[in-house]
Amino acid sequence: MNEHESFLPYNLPDISDVEIDAVVETLRSGWLAPGPRVKRFEDDFAAFIGAKHAIALDSATAGMHLALLASGIGAGDEVITTPTTFAATVNVAIHTGATPVLADIDGGDYCIDPAAIERAITLRTKAIMPVHHGGTACRMDAILDLARRYNLLVVEDAAHGLGTHIDGRHIGTFGDATVFSFYPTKNVTSGRGGMLTTNNDALADRCRLLALHGMSNDAWDRYTDRGSWAYQVLAAGYNYTMSDFQAALGHAQFSRLDEFQRRRREIATMLNERLASLPELQLPVERVGTTHAWHLYVVRLRPQMLTISRDEFIVKMKERGIGTSVHFIPIHHHPYYRATYGWAPGDFPVADEAFATMVSLPLYTRMTEAAVDRVATAVEEIVRDHRT
Ligand SMILES: *Cc1c(COP(=O)(O)O)cnc(C)c1O
Repeated sequence: MNEHESFLPYNLPDISDVEIDAVVETLRSGWLAPGPRVKRFEDDFAAFIGAKHAIALDSATAGMHLALLASGIGAGDEVITTPTTFAATVNVAIHTGATPVLADIDGGDYCIDPAAIERAITLRTKAIMPVHHGGTACRMDAILDLARRYNLLVVEDAAHGLGTHIDGRHIGTFGDATVFSFYPTKNVTSGRGGMLTTNNDALADRCRLLALHGMSNDAWDRYTDRGSWAYQVLAAGYNYTMSDFQAALGHAQFSRLDEFQRRRREIATMLNERLASLPELQLPVERVGTTHAWHLYVVRLRPQMLTISRDEFIVKMKERGIGTSVHFIPIHHHPYYRATYGWAPGDFPVADEAFATMVSLPLYTRMTEAAVDRVATAVEEIVRDHRT
């Protein structure tokens, strides 16, 4: 690394005075529990998505868990998802008592392949959990067609999908429920948090009940003049709600979404323009009729054209002071799932090949033009130095 250049991290949150002021104001207000700021975040988010309901939670994981539980998914059921995801997508299915089933991905966009879903469907299949990988829209038309034909629930993991559109419509109401993440690495953060959107009234009611211990009233009502101290526990629920200062942060970030997405697109466009001349790389795709949220910028190395592996590429980037990441180590490579479900590397060959060759380059709103240039230059140089 050039000693005058500091390390360029893979990711950084973008927190301005807007967020800081909103959180401080909340801390001074005396109301930290779920309250008016949660309500405002939910209302504005629902309006933005065009969904009847938006439920703020303390993580996307909680939202996916609740959507499955509220739909009656449990022991004896199978839930189909992708191997190319974070552990949470699979774990929530396991937590309900259901059995996760993996269906291979499309090697072009890293999203679950609808044809592979259809091959994985059995009489026990109850739900499909597509993941909008990196902010790329899954093929929801094909997935919803399968769901209709086989009577399956669709819970979308949109942890990367704030900013993803299909045919001009923001994702969030295509499947039965959609869950967004506000973890600090995501496009918008509330520190920790998530939002579940749905048009299904019964599903929304059940999720709200289960999110607050199964209690009949929500905490906000209990502490206002509209509420009362009395409540009944109607289910053995969870403690999954978002607090008001998380909502203050999340809402302030969300109010900057246009600015964030414009910047992400600019950076992705710069990277696309710079890297397009390298045939050794497969660049990300934005399918016609969709908007990529540009949460991740994933490139794949074409191994037959290069003398270095993906792992070596990552080391070379690091030597140049640039952080990268890989999304994701496939589910069927992890010890727990291998031991429990008998999966092994090689079982989902498209996901395996993608994993072996993919790398996520830095893409975040605080990157300067110089930082983007530095990333592109590093990639160009490493590729040029290692052509076959
Ligand atoms: C971040 C992430 C999650 C988990 O989100 P949390 O809000 O941390 O629960 C789930 N799925 C994917 C694909 C993710 O990247």
